[in-house]
Amino acid sequence: MAASVKPSAICFQSLQPCFGVKQPLMPTQICYSRSTSLFSVRKKQNEEHSSILRHLKIKALDAAQPFDNESKEIEDFETNSLLKIGIVGFGNFGQFLAKTIVKQGHTVLAYSITDREEVAQKMGVFFFKDADDFCEEHPDVILLCSSIISTGSVLRSFPTHRLKRSTLFADVLSVKEFPRNLFLQVLPPEFDILCTHPMFGPESGKTGWSGLPFVYEKVRIGKGARAERCYRFLNIFAKEGCRMVEMSCAEHDRYAAESQFTTHTVGRMLGKLNLESTPINTKGYESLLQIVENTCGDSFDLYYGLFMYNKNATEQLERLEMAFDALKKQLVGQLHQIVRKQLFEGVSHGEASQKISAFADIQNSHPSRNSSGDQKIKELSDIVNEVK
Ligand code: NAP
Repeated sequence: MAASVKPSAICFQSLQPCFGVKQPLMPTQICYSRSTSLFSVRKKQNEEHSSILRHLKIKALDAAQPFDNESKEIEDFETNSLLKIGIVGFGNFGQFLAKTIVKQGHTVLAYSITDREEVAQKMGVFFFKDADDFCEEHPDVILLCSSIISTGSVLRSFPTHRLKRSTLFADVLSVKEFPRNLFLQVLPPEFDILCTHPMFGPESGKTGWSGLPFVYEKVRIGKGARAERCYRFLNIFAKEGCRMVEMSCAEHDRYAAESQFTTHTVGRMLGKLNLESTPINTKGYESLLQIVENTCGDSFDLYYGLFMYNKNATEQLERLEMAFDALKKQLVGQLHQIVRKQLFEGVSHGEASQKISAFADIQNSHPSRNSSGDQKIKELSDIVNEVK
């Protein structure tokens, strides 16, 4: 990269910035003509350095020469930042991530049960059908992109003894407490553990990852080179502009049950209605169609995993059901009040009966006809009969 694009400014700063790695002063921000930033995410603890660092800014660096140590240092630094990443589960999401990781210059290996050699080759990814061969390539990072429900068996049967003892294990599962506990249970203590959830997918992230949330917890990360490797891995997402959010896996699952599980449930529910675009779509309706597209494109395994492997999801499903019932009660209750008002304000008995019959017809012809509607009709009829 540095060969084709000349830096116009270099900022020096401790390599600590956001993910907790202590390093000597190093060039960390290179302002290229197309304004690429190596480390765009910074945490507050670095702000105290910023006034000193401003004095170290170099503007308008000349074209790089062979004896130009600064540009050599940057080049070396970039090369040393590259990782060998082994993706386990090269399905929909694994492939989606691989595209960007390859684009950044990292080496990507992939292992799946399904033969995905052809698609991997097109993307510049080295595909392995055999888990032993895959591990013997000694990736720096193993990135689990398997379905939530298969991850337990995938990890338990994985030949971890063939990996380097210092390997970093990371995952992208959409639930977080489950893989965290599984990693701690199954992986040897020499391995580092990083739990992550890129909170976007092939649909929502198809035009780029800028501003999209990336949640992570450093569950077990060693010091020195291990911490730096973790930082370099996280930086793949930071460089793409993701909003990096460090939080515990438990906290993630609490929030995700409300946000993500609700979104997927509503999307899948609407999907069952086979909604179609109309010539008079409102913005709200367009959003609903978009939710259907974003959620129904994912595998059902993924949705089931969101439910089964997040202990907060059952309660959320019940809350959704209660909310729907409450809303229906509110609608029918209002009708009840109107009929009552009309009855006592001189509307004829015949008219009131007609309204109730009309409501009953709607209720009977509705595919989701249920007992609470039937109950309301009975109550309304009783009122009319009482007055009669
Ligand atoms: P998925 O259906 O959740 O997972 C598909 C992957 O799981 C495939 O690679 C598949 O292997 C593997 N798999 C399924 N059953 C398996 C089994 N019994 N043994 C071994 N491997 C098995 O779909 P996905 O969208 O690709 O998601 C992958 C992971 O990314 C999930 O954990 C999901 O929670 C997470 N994630 C997805 C999104 C998204 O938007 N899609 C976003 C964030 C995180 P084969 O390759 O052999 O078919």
